[in-house]
Formats: sequence, C-alpha cells, structure tokens
Amino acid sequence: MRRSHPAFSLLTVLVLSVGHATASPAGQPATSDPGRPATDRTLTKDVLADGVYLFRAPEALDRWTATNVVVVVNQDDVTVFDSFTRPETARLAIAEIRALTAKPVRTLINSHWHMDHWSGNDEFRKAFPGIQIIATAETRGYMSRMGSAFLIDGTRAGLARSREALAAAIKAGTTSDGRAVTGDLRREREREIDETSRFVDEVLAIPRVLPDVAFRDELTFWRGGREFRLFSMTGDATGSAVLYLPAEKILVTGDVLVSPPDGQGPPPWTTNSYAIAPWLASLRRLDAFDATVIVPGQGPAMRDKAYLRLTVQLFAAIVDGVLRALERGTYRADDIVAAVNLDAIGRQYPNGRTGPDTPFGTMVARLVRKAAQEALDGIVK
Ligand SMILES: [Zn+2]
Repeated sequence: MRRSHPAFSLLTVLVLSVGHATASPAGQPATSDPGRPATDRTLTKDVLADGVYLFRAPEALDRWTATNVVVVVNQDDVTVFDSFTRPETARLAIAEIRALTAKPVRTLINSHWHMDHWSGNDEFRKAFPGIQIIATAETRGYMSRMGSAFLIDGTRAGLARSREALAAAIKAGTTSDGRAVTGDLRREREREIDETSRFVDEVLAIPRVLPDVAFRDELTFWRGGREFRLFSMTGDATGSAVLYLPAEKILVTGDVLVSPPDGQGPPPWTTNSYAIAPWLASLRRLDAFDATVIVPGQGPAMRDKAYLRLTVQLFAAIVDGVLRALERGTYRADDIVAAVNLDAIGRQYPNGRTGPDTPFGTMVARLVRKAAQEALDGIVK
C-alpha cells in the first residue's frame, strides 16, 4: 500500500495499515531480518559503522512515511538524527538506544519541518531532559508557523471521504469499484476509519517541541573524537539539514534524497516548500561528498551512489525538458507536462514503475509544473 507524505495535502493515505496492528512492547529488540512479517511493529536496525546505527520503523507503524532515524553513540553521549513520525515510534527508538548504551542522548538533529521527521522531539526531551535540538533557522521558522492541523489536513479530508464512501457503499450494497459490501468488508473499512481517526487525534495532540539551536549554512561540532558536519540544503523542504560524518564517510540526507520505503523504484513523491532548481543543486552537492553510505529520508541505506545519480539525472531532465518545451513554444502547463516524458529514466530504478497513474508519473507531473512556474519566476534558467 502506498503512503503519502504529510505535507501533501491530498490523501491517498488514509485507509491503510489496518490489520497489521499488534503492538509489541517498547524495548523489544530490533531485528535485522528484512523478511520479517508485516505484523511486526519493531524497528529494524542497520549497523552503518562502529557506533552508528540506522533505525527504521515499519510503515504499518509510522503510517505517514517510514522515516529513517540515525543514532550515533559517541565517547560520552549519543547524537540522533530525526525523531520519527509518532511518539510511539520515538519511544521504541529510545528503548533501543537504552539497550545499546547507558550514555544519554545530548543532541537531536531535526532534518526539516515535515512532521514525520520531528514528532518524537517531545519524547526525546522527556527521556533526556538536557537534550539540545538542532535545526536550520528556516526549519525552525517553518515548524513554528506550520501546525499539526496543516499537516494532517489532507488525512482528515480523506477520512471524511472514506466515511462518505462507506456510507454510500452500504446504501448501494456495493463499493464504487463494484465489490459487494459483505460483513467482513464493512468491518475492515470501519476498522480502517477508526484507526485513521485515532491517528488524526494523535497527531493533533503531539506537543510541538522546537529546536533550541539554529544554524544557517553550515555547522560543525564534535562529540568525543567524532566530527559531525551539518549543511543546509534544499530537499522536499527548503532549509533541510544534511549530516555528514567525514571519518565514517556517512551522508544522512533527510528528504533531500527521497526514496521509497522499501528502496524499490523511483522517488515516490514531492511536497511543497522548495524550488526545483536549488533542489537539483543540492542533489549534485550530495554527489560531491566522499560517502560510502547514504541514508535517505526513508528506505534502506544505500552503499553506492547509483540511486542518487539517477535522481540527479531525473531532476536535470525535468528542468531541461521544461526549458526545451518552452523554447518550442509550448507554454500551457498541461501541454508542458504532456511534452516531458521521463519514463525511460524512471524505468532505470530497480522495479521502477512508470506511467501517468503511478506515483512516479504523478511526481514527475508535479515537478514539471513546478519547473515551468520556476522558469517564469526566473528560478529555473
Ligand atoms: Zn519531507
């Protein structure tokens, strides 16, 4: 099932992960087994280097996305990059950290303002009261202005549509796609609606704990002998923090590099607070790092640059395709979208599905429209 990003205001999302839900207690050990069943709500742990771990939440648990959280155990303390989508997931991660080490988490980095990356801030601060939370000044500004209601709006709208659709199906005896409304189907849909409704309430109630350290372009700090370099870049949100560990050659990108949760296929979505020209520049900047491990905003860690480079190629082709279409005299947005076909690039991703009705097709169309607007605005040139 496909998830949408929180900052998308459309909701395809909604009615998803129900039926996967048997909660496991916090602190249950993480597993490295990629073949674990969908009912498993424990975190996956990937060891990236000595003391550097990637924790990944199952989609069924995180619902919105499956945000990557990197935990770095230093000489005296722990540094964490991003804090998950849900308080429950953050609590699981905190239990995992405590199983790894008795050292406290003293530093938490928020990659960007989309709530799937920082909703666990409150849990981390409760667990580690002395913690410092770092983000870019732009991110902190967005966090203070864009509330939970904005981010959950699409989910709420979808919830209302799901309720209406179910009521109509019960009345007609069949769903809109012609399935008979059996008792099982009705119960399943009701359960989905109920779970989503509780998720909406949960998101609205998450305490919004803002960063207390902000930087603009770059920030370097040391913990014990370990060096952390932060850079402000553009991803699916402007002013996104990217982390580079130079000794370990690990690059943690947040949603500057968007990957599907299972790592299969092209980038599945884009969101709102960015321009494509600086995003492309940031992707090229990522490529210039001496990195042997790349951790995208979600999905498995990458041990080479193939996915990054293909995505650079994709974004460059979008910008180029839009400019060439404009030069040929095509100026209406719909016509430009029709003129820019990048399926050949989409198919180069592992299991890349392309076409207008796929997430890739939707994403490319959105980016093409955005690039066309930016060509008018003088950002793309
Ligand atoms: Zn994002």
